[in-house]
Amino acid sequence: MSENKNTKFVFVTGGVTSSLGKGIISASLGVLLKERGFKVSIQKLDPYINVDPGTMNPYEHGECYVTEDGAETDLDLGHYERFLNSYTSQKNNITAGKIYQSVIDKERKGKYLGKTVQVIPHITNEIKKQIKSLSKDNFDFIITEIGGTVGDIESLPFIESIRQLKWELEKNAIVMHLTLIPYLHSSGELKTKPTQNSVKKLRELGLQPDIIICRTRRDLTEDVKNKIALFCNIEKSSVIESKDAETIYEVPCLMKNQNLDKVVLKKLQTKTKNSCKLKNWNSFLKNLKNPKQETTIALVGKYIELKDSYKSIVEALYHAGVKNKCKINIKWVHSEDLVKNKIKNILKNVNGVLVAPGFGDRGIEGKIQAIKYVRENKIPFFGICLGMQCAVIEFSRNILNLKNANSTEFDKNTIYPVIDLMNNQKKISYKGGTMRLGAYKCEIKKDSKTFNIYKSSNISERHRHRYEFNNDFLSKFEEKEFIASGINKKLNLVEIMEYKKHPWFIGVQFHPEFKSTVEQAQPLFVSFIKNSLIQNG
Ligand code: GLN
Repeated sequence: MSENKNTKFVFVTGGVTSSLGKGIISASLGVLLKERGFKVSIQKLDPYINVDPGTMNPYEHGECYVTEDGAETDLDLGHYERFLNSYTSQKNNITAGKIYQSVIDKERKGKYLGKTVQVIPHITNEIKKQIKSLSKDNFDFIITEIGGTVGDIESLPFIESIRQLKWELEKNAIVMHLTLIPYLHSSGELKTKPTQNSVKKLRELGLQPDIIICRTRRDLTEDVKNKIALFCNIEKSSVIESKDAETIYEVPCLMKNQNLDKVVLKKLQTKTKNSCKLKNWNSFLKNLKNPKQETTIALVGKYIELKDSYKSIVEALYHAGVKNKCKINIKWVHSEDLVKNKIKNILKNVNGVLVAPGFGDRGIEGKIQAIKYVRENKIPFFGICLGMQCAVIEFSRNILNLKNANSTEFDKNTIYPVIDLMNNQKKISYKGGTMRLGAYKCEIKKDSKTFNIYKSSNISERHRHRYEFNNDFLSKFEEKEFIASGINKKLNLVEIMEYKKHPWFIGVQFHPEFKSTVEQAQPLFVSFIKNSLIQNG
């Protein structure tokens, strides 16, 4: 399929500082354009050299978000999917590593016909090609967010590519620059100088922004807007205020009130299809802000110092909270704090326990102890990926009497390897992109709780792991009513375990959190929260 010449491109750059919320602004613009009837996709360009964030520690980068087609990507792609309720793919996350890998690969194959391979034009051409390749899918709009801050050395080839693209695409491309307007207490003023400087930096690189989005704690005065317009060469109506919000889900509404969609459509000379009412979005927001009850969920993990490591889980809990009209209080529990005599104290007032995914053996014994406690005390338990594997280990040790049962990830020589590597994983030495990744089908047993939750016997969920339930032990588990309620028939793999003698004890080998969106809360999360409320009430 060839590129669509009518696709409009919005490039989103950031200035002054990182963490201003480019991802949320991009996703919010996406929501407004989608609401107007356009087909939208959002893409993230990450200037780091890793080919993808899959090999990075969560402390470095937060959660690694997995797409349907098995790409390990930046967590912003999670926001895009949650806001737009549509799938992203490999093509939506481009890193400098990916670009260099593909250029070097071509060079080794002799594709550059003896030329010297250079940043301009070879790297920039590859970046442009990958940005434009999304338009083959016939999107009306592609919003491209450039990671980092303007002026960073590593993002220069990306900014240069956008400069060239803007020239080539003429009226079909605009640049939206996000900056910070600090407030100085001593003088009682909002300051525009950092914005002026960052726009100056952008201009030095050949890019003039069309829209400036100003992150601020206080309302921008007319004076401030005029000043930015004057110094940065843009119309006053293109200076958009982005005030700090109570929740990220408010941002599309704030952007609508600031007419961001109208300004974008005008700049790109696009006739609007529908009006933008945000009816469903507003009702989600209303329920989020006006809960009728509350529940406290312990989120047990080992990366909790950086909450972004569990981004999709937290958002999926919030979506499920809205569905149940209840407020979610998250009690962050570090798995290493869960030593035997402290568990009761830490978990005594929670209404449900979610044991999170993870890698490596740090904190494992704490997770296993916590699971024993919730199993025995009939507290709703939701184990995700490693969380499910820990539940299997706990059950083997304490109910099946398989002493020191373990996963071979933590003890290679265990005599009871209840969680083990699949044969095809044993040969793998390359770490990047080699786990079981992306969407896999799962068949659910009709007489299970999980079936009642999904209301279907055929589902598909996303994976990111190497280890699996070891089927050699399955009959022992099922004799004691810890059953495999979901399996992948083709690969003969256990995907869901549920304990029948407990009100809500479910472990899943996949990551249901990646498919929860504002429009469609994920069913397991919804049911987990519903049951935590029963425990509560
Ligand atoms: N470390 C486990 C595995 O690789 C679990 C991974 C996860 O929780 N995503 O199988």
